[in-house]
Amino acid sequence: MPHHDLVVIGAGPGGYVAAIRAAQLGKDVACIEQEPMLGGTCLRVGCIPSKALLESSRLYEEAARGWKERGIVSGKVQLDLSAMLQHKQQVVNTLGGGIDGLFQKHKIARYVGHASFDGPQRVVVAGNDEALPITAEHVLIATGSSPASLPGIELDEERIVSSTGALSFFEVPRHLIVIGAGYIGLELGTVWRRLGAQVTVLEYLDRILPGMDAQVAQQARKIFEKQGIRFRLGCRVESVQVNRKTCEVQIDGDEPMQGDRVLVAVGRRPNTDRLGLETIGVETTDRGFIPVDAHWETSQPGVFAIGDVIGGAMLAHKAEEEGVACVERLYTGYGHVNDDAIPGVCYTEPEIATVGKSEEALQEEGTAYRKGQFPFLANGRARASGQTDGFVKMLADERTDRVLGVHIIGAHAGELIAECAAALEFGASSEDIARCCHAHPTLAEAVKEAALAVDGRAIHF
Ligand code: NAD
Repeated sequence: MPHHDLVVIGAGPGGYVAAIRAAQLGKDVACIEQEPMLGGTCLRVGCIPSKALLESSRLYEEAARGWKERGIVSGKVQLDLSAMLQHKQQVVNTLGGGIDGLFQKHKIARYVGHASFDGPQRVVVAGNDEALPITAEHVLIATGSSPASLPGIELDEERIVSSTGALSFFEVPRHLIVIGAGYIGLELGTVWRRLGAQVTVLEYLDRILPGMDAQVAQQARKIFEKQGIRFRLGCRVESVQVNRKTCEVQIDGDEPMQGDRVLVAVGRRPNTDRLGLETIGVETTDRGFIPVDAHWETSQPGVFAIGDVIGGAMLAHKAEEEGVACVERLYTGYGHVNDDAIPGVCYTEPEIATVGKSEEALQEEGTAYRKGQFPFLANGRARASGQTDGFVKMLADERTDRVLGVHIIGAHAGELIAECAAALEFGASSEDIARCCHAHPTLAEAVKEAALAVDGRAIHF
């Protein structure tokens, strides 16, 4: 029976990164993954393919629109959707092959099949062949999450789809109805709007992007509406019926709505139900999450869990950080993740990026803060590239000036937020950022100006 120092269940960004780090620390590591491709949801049907489609659809929209005022007049631009989908798949396959190479380099043993516990240090892999038992000193659960649905709605991945189906429509929907105005609904809604679909987003709350700074979310909604996305807020979807090519969405207390495809993007649920956790006495919460201590250890000594299965932000980079910190803590004695400095990025146009506390959260906890805001309209680089929508907002402690949160809506916000996450991690003040030289002309100067604005001394606004 194979035996390893560490067995990682799941080869998503949390699991495969943890496996590599443990191998770097000299451990004999194995990784069990039920899909033939490594990389998890993020690579196969999540972050990466959606970004490939976001970028391709952006190019298509810009090419079709042209830039008359800049002297670029476009002719007839055609969409070859199947080529676009093929390109997306090539990107995914190439990156998947890259992880294979990393596993080989680090001599990580790979098992293909579904893993479940047979005992605290024993996992059984059910693959194509006979079930294979494997033993290990330590086991790390990194099985991720799956799309959630609503009680009256069954996903068929053709007419009523999750994010997975919405990455592979073989034709552009006429009217795509999106349920849920979170990250997935807005990103994939953006893709299909750019490619020509009418897009309506139905959201239960009275705002979009729950949890994100409200001022940023409000600005985002205005911009998306200008782009042509329709929103119906405060709207609880009850069920969806499919009649041949038509989907009818039933809404509580309102007229039903008809479209030809429905994307259900109402959150994700942890993949913890078929792991045999009961055999090792690990209980999940009522929502299926695995409780862990500060070092990611479950109630069963030697069994650890990270990423989407333990709750918190369901983000690839959060899982990666936890995977690395968990194995470092296990094998070196040190390892920590600062939950307050994990950025979030919504890859719409413009991008929306956030790190630290929102203004509402600070108000709620009664923390006195100062706020600096700077619009991209007043940034030279944004003007030159014609990307003037949005602003940077920095929140700093009124007494100590320590940066508590930064929220950006604007072009390349997802790149700009890295500096802000580093600032939070280093416990920087807004003055620290304001006194760092930022290259000119860059969008990053808007971050510096927002830092200056905390003290009322922005130069260009
Ligand atoms: P979400 O939790 O971000 O948003 C779901 C939305 O659905 C909420 O606004 C909620 O109020 C709404 N909703 C729930 N029930 C409803 C109903 N009956 N009728 C109408 N609206 C309803 O979930 P998501 O967008 O599905 O994303 C899932 C997870 O994946 C999130 O944790 C997200 O962080 C992550 N994700 C991140 C990225 C990224 O980082 N760019 C991209 C995609 C997904």
